[in-house]
Amino acid sequence: MNRITYKTLSCVLLIATANWADLFAGADPFAESRKNMVLAIEADVRRTSEYIGKKALDPRVMEAMGRVPRHEFVPEPLRPYAYENRPLPIGHDQTISQPYIVALMTDLLQAGPDSVVLEVGTGSGYQAAVLAECVKQVYSIEIIPELAESARSTLQRLGYKNTEVRVGDGYLGWEEHAPFDGILVTAAGGHIPPPLVQQLKPGGKMVIPVGGPFMNQQLVLVEKDGAGGIRTRQVLPVAFVPLTGGH
Ligand code: SAH
Repeated sequence: MNRITYKTLSCVLLIATANWADLFAGADPFAESRKNMVLAIEADVRRTSEYIGKKALDPRVMEAMGRVPRHEFVPEPLRPYAYENRPLPIGHDQTISQPYIVALMTDLLQAGPDSVVLEVGTGSGYQAAVLAECVKQVYSIEIIPELAESARSTLQRLGYKNTEVRVGDGYLGWEEHAPFDGILVTAAGGHIPPPLVQQLKPGGKMVIPVGGPFMNQQLVLVEKDGAGGIRTRQVLPVAFVPLTGGH
């Protein structure tokens, strides 16, 4: 190979490499905002450490927050705001929860890679995706059929094979797959649904907002001990959409 050809070739290679780098950077235009969202969550965790009893969340949960493409779970016109640390409307008077709350609830479950988890209130499917990154299997129930359908298709498109979504009243749980290592409820009811307590494994945890619609709600951690005894702890005041259905 003569010198000129060699030079030309390395030049082309250099340009090609630069283009690839651009292409990769361009493949996820939200990467930077997602990093900033993770920083905002970390700051919120530090700010609320007195309530939640720790200054940092489980690194596995934070890594999941850094991976899940939240912009895929919000309506198209709201994508520019997808990585702000706040809830956003997803239609049908429902919201995708604030990223800090999603991270905190996932952390409180303390679920591992072998855990089977039930979510009540699929909504956009975002919380289910974050859970799916951390556990073996996620079952999620949504009462509004259109939301269930769209969450199911988003999760499928993004390749989350360990999630199953069905339409129904999550108050009653999902008997067929019970008992669960963890149960996460993303809508607030006036009390802790007894069927969910019953479907929790001994040693399992449930995280659930309890209280009236949009006021006086507390995020509650429910723990079932080996003998089936129940202990509850109020973690943080929160504001969730109401748990609807016949109960
Ligand atoms: N986890 C969701 C947030 C959903 S908001 C996300 O990550 O986007 C709460 C959801 O709970 C709403 O979609 C609402 O329709 C649903 N919901 C309310 N009551 C329910 C019930 N009884 N059973 C199942 N889903 C319910």
